[in-house]
Amino acid sequence: MIGLQQQIKLVKRPVGTPVKEDFEFVQAPIGEPAEGEVLIRTIYISVDPYLRGRMNDVKSYIPPFELDSVITSGVIGQVVKSKSAKFAEKDVVTGSLGWQEYSVAKDSSIRKIDTNLAPASAYLSVLGMTGLTAYFGLLDIGQPKEGETVVVSGAAGAVGSVVGQIAKIKGARVVGIAGSDEKIKYLKNELGLDATVNYKTDDVKTALAEKCPDGIDVYYENVGGEIGDAVLPLLNKFARIPVCGAISAYNNEEADIGLRVQSYLIKTSSVMKGFTVGDYASRFKEGSQALAKWLQEGKLQYEETITDGFDQTIDAFLDLFKGANLGKAIVKVSELE
Ligand code: NDP
Repeated sequence: MIGLQQQIKLVKRPVGTPVKEDFEFVQAPIGEPAEGEVLIRTIYISVDPYLRGRMNDVKSYIPPFELDSVITSGVIGQVVKSKSAKFAEKDVVTGSLGWQEYSVAKDSSIRKIDTNLAPASAYLSVLGMTGLTAYFGLLDIGQPKEGETVVVSGAAGAVGSVVGQIAKIKGARVVGIAGSDEKIKYLKNELGLDATVNYKTDDVKTALAEKCPDGIDVYYENVGGEIGDAVLPLLNKFARIPVCGAISAYNNEEADIGLRVQSYLIKTSSVMKGFTVGDYASRFKEGSQALAKWLQEGKLQYEETITDGFDQTIDAFLDLFKGANLGKAIVKVSELE
């Protein structure tokens, strides 16, 4: 396929909160697949908070993005040309691909998705990386039991909304923390959480103590900062804290300093454990099957904030830090055929 396409490159390392000038739209030729490769038209791009970390030139669990290179994240696409026996034209696939309108990918780096089970975008949300993050972090580290109190921050986001629902499935009492009235309504009315805290309008310490009269058994940490600090004094004996994310600190230039955790953990014999979803790669099949089953049984709902247009990708990414998304933030680049 001969022609030109748009790509998005990281051209500056953001200082603090990223700005549009850190990125650049460039034109580039659409690639040609070689033997064992396919050409994919981008349908959906996943924008995720963790990408902010990859924009810094620091060692982490995944290497940083290189300057002047195309940003990559989870993508859903449709095969337009195949030089692989494993894929045919029109197959709908997912993989870690570039922020560009077309990608050439090795057949071993992508997989087909079943759009009869759920719409394609769900493979970036409830059935994708964020759903799996919720599943493994909560069940493997949090281990919620019937009647226990589970608190989740970032509760109306991609990971948090799935965490809250799985905790309910397991019979826990769930308290969700989020940053707008619309999100609070969603948590109560749509997800059926037992209690909520709006961290922007409530006094978090007081509100959380009120909403957790029996203390906290599991705190699923998505945001870090002062919200996490408000949880520690309320921990019950043998509490579990899966540390999934700390979005409130991702744009900080200074170290993120809060309560020292040791005495709280000692007093309550609690466990605080960081993880990345990649730790569970060998169990992704189990997680995907469980999430798909709950989805089919109507036990799991999901919300997506889909922004239309490749030219809106950077705005959709920056909006994550403003809390503009309900559920998973996704950019729609083109239509499925
Ligand atoms: P979300 O869909 O939750 O989007 C981000 C949300 O974070 C916003 O909507 C906003 O909601 C909230 N937020 C933004 N800034 C702040 C702030 N300063 N303080 C508190 N809340 C804030 O994103 P994801 O579900 O994709 O990710 C949630 C967390 O999980 C992130 O920290 C992410 O890095 C982490 N993560 C970790 C993974 C792992 O493997 N460990 C994998 C995937 C995600 P609100 O309106 O409520 O403020």
